[in-house]
Amino acid sequence: MTASRVLVLNSGSSSLKYQLLDMADGARLAMGLVERIGEQSSRLVHTPLAGAGAARREQTAPIADHAAALKAVAAELAADGLGLDSPELAAVGHRVVHGGTRFTQPTVIDDEVLAEIRALVPLAPLHNPANVTGIEVARSMRPDIPQVAVFDTAFHATMPEYAARYAIDAETADRYAIRRYGFHGTSHAYVSRATAALLGKAPAEVNVIVLHLGNGASASAVRGGVCVDTSMGLTPLEGLVMGTRSGDLDPAVIFHLARVGGMSVDQIDDLLNKRSGLLGMCGDNDMREILRRAGEGDAAAVTAFETYVHRLKKYIGAYTAVLGRVDAVAFTAGVGENAAPVREAAVQGLAELGLAIDAGLNSVRSDEPRLVSPDYARVAVAVVPTDEELEIARQSYALVTR
Ligand code: ADP
Repeated sequence: MTASRVLVLNSGSSSLKYQLLDMADGARLAMGLVERIGEQSSRLVHTPLAGAGAARREQTAPIADHAAALKAVAAELAADGLGLDSPELAAVGHRVVHGGTRFTQPTVIDDEVLAEIRALVPLAPLHNPANVTGIEVARSMRPDIPQVAVFDTAFHATMPEYAARYAIDAETADRYAIRRYGFHGTSHAYVSRATAALLGKAPAEVNVIVLHLGNGASASAVRGGVCVDTSMGLTPLEGLVMGTRSGDLDPAVIFHLARVGGMSVDQIDDLLNKRSGLLGMCGDNDMREILRRAGEGDAAAVTAFETYVHRLKKYIGAYTAVLGRVDAVAFTAGVGENAAPVREAAVQGLAELGLAIDAGLNSVRSDEPRLVSPDYARVAVAVVPTDEELEIARQSYALVTR
């Protein structure tokens, strides 16, 4: 029996998301989430996906840290006969947010790699520390199997220098590793490939604009399977309007807030990352709520929606110019997969670019990849559900069975 299971871990500062997959057939065996780690109200939600009668289980009890969280997860998995001590576990795949310029491929983690991921903490202070903790905990539990890091930045490492550079003093940029790295790379990789498959073509044959619209949101231009531009930059703050992040803005807004508003750097960081975007504009960051309010004529919700869509259109136009020829625009993640009005509004008026949407197809709800453009459209508009965990598992498994 060859070991074919991969445990995928996505560690946040106070959360741990996991999925156990069997790469022999790609089946998902279990998934779940521990949240509010370190608080009294910690919660573990575990969903076994294999076997008859499998039902979601939930427990609320204080979970002190990530080590305790993974132990609790292991106990849940063991109760389903999927214990992490099983010889069938081939690898643990870790989502790591920032790989800098050092990591452009999935990488088996040893002490040196872990030290380098730690050294990247200044570039991703909110994310990499939690990722490191997750790795340490999983390693101590199963030191005998490979732990693989899959980086959110990696897919974008192919961006040409002119797309990755900011036009600032080159020496300063190099000294502080300031360049555009991009994020959500695992999703952009998965969705661009799945879009090619939907068109019945090989990834190398198609040019795709991927719009990953979740709470965080980013766009990418993918030429023949290779990323040539993306909207997030040094950090996930740049680009599209997001749930709580501003996306693009004149950097002088920051000087203005500091000089005129008397705000500190940390306050401005908090404002732009956590209290801006849709939330900042209208008080809600959930697109469902914004659509509902906009439908009732709520002016702030309408403006937030229109700003969100306007920015999306600008990126579709920009990436059409970058790619020259576009075969498909693919919508993914929570908003992209579910919010038909966002898709419709983003494409509206872009007939000159070859884009059109079929209202009937666009209103169908489905978990399957699908086209929502009419046959005559030169550019396909697709809805392609993302699956970052499957992609992390695939990349991890490919690396350890190579
Ligand atoms: P995350 O970035 O946290 O992974 P998701 O990709 O799960 O986010 O997207 C979450 C967002 O998707 C929610 O904040 C909400 O705005 C949006 N969303 C989810 N379902 C719908 C829906 N049916 N209609 C509109 N928006 C939705």
